[in-house]
Amino acid sequence: MSLTAQDWLAKIHALPLTRPVRILNVCGGHERAITLTGLRAALPRTIELIPGPGCPVCVCPEEDVYQAIRLALEERVILAAFGDMLRVPVNVPKGEPRCLDAAKAAGADVRPVASPREVVALARAHPERPVVFFAAGFETTTAPVAAMLLEGVPDNLYLLLSARRTWPAVAMLLASDAPGFDALIAPGHVATVMGPEEWRFVVEQYRMPTAVAGFTPVSLLAAFYSVLRQLLEAQPFLDNCYPEVVRPGGNPTAQAQLTETMHITEANWRGIGVLPASGFRLCERFAAHDARLTFPDHAALGRQRAGQMPPGCDCARVVLGRIAPDACRLYGTACTPRHPVGPCMVSDEGACRIWWAGGVRA
Ligand code: SF4
Repeated sequence: MSLTAQDWLAKIHALPLTRPVRILNVCGGHERAITLTGLRAALPRTIELIPGPGCPVCVCPEEDVYQAIRLALEERVILAAFGDMLRVPVNVPKGEPRCLDAAKAAGADVRPVASPREVVALARAHPERPVVFFAAGFETTTAPVAAMLLEGVPDNLYLLLSARRTWPAVAMLLASDAPGFDALIAPGHVATVMGPEEWRFVVEQYRMPTAVAGFTPVSLLAAFYSVLRQLLEAQPFLDNCYPEVVRPGGNPTAQAQLTETMHITEANWRGIGVLPASGFRLCERFAAHDARLTFPDHAALGRQRAGQMPPGCDCARVVLGRIAPDACRLYGTACTPRHPVGPCMVSDEGACRIWWAGGVRA
């Protein structure tokens, strides 16, 4: 008989925990499920659940957002992006639009899209105009972009790719002097595509308890219980608490499509810096569809904005799990979902936005 959330909670409360334990998650979907179902309050006080680098919109670097804004302002260009990206603000010279929504208000043709398929349809419907797809996301979002490329795209479709891999950010935290957590909940969606094995290094190199989780309270609580048991028994292993979806080896077709269309490269993370092997760039075969090559002036303009953060914004420390969202001094004052200062308050996967939606007030 499968256990209920109440059963898992009872098992967790029965564990002989004698010291505080910090458990990091790296998925906006996990953080949303934890916050909106009130899991934090249901756990023993000694357990702290920390949101980590789980929001691709939040780590999209300023230079890429700025380049997208400048491209959107080009005459004839249609700029397509996932809805979350439209309100991500960047620090811009006075008088310039600070996000894609503002560019749209200034006359740019900016279209929110939900899938690569929509972008292809948009390009086919406007063959006389350049359509630039600002594709920011982790592996789960990037794999369908790769599939789109292999299916064939119209000549007038260009990709402004800002794709990131999840595990290098965790590797960077673990290699630091103070990682700040004792156990890891690995992302279910990413593991579905890339395979749970990507997270084995956490156990093998750092002897840190790790469990892949799904998005229900039962799956998350099973994962918390697993890593707590691993900690107590000092026997870390990579557990899969989402076996109904996450299979050994992940999705080989999606992985092959990524390999066929993109190279792995170092990449800049907003407020964090350049992480080795943490991003994707298009293969030479798709150079004709690379917006960075087709519009080099905008790429250069974007690079000038690298490292710029809105004054007072603590998103980088929130993304790395160094501080809780409500510890940012702008949380709920200067920065709210209606008037976001940083990307973590914009995206549905941003920790600040999730905590605000969950009723956390400064
Ligand atoms: Fe960034 Fe706003 Fe969150 Fe502060 S409250 S970290 S400014 S998004």
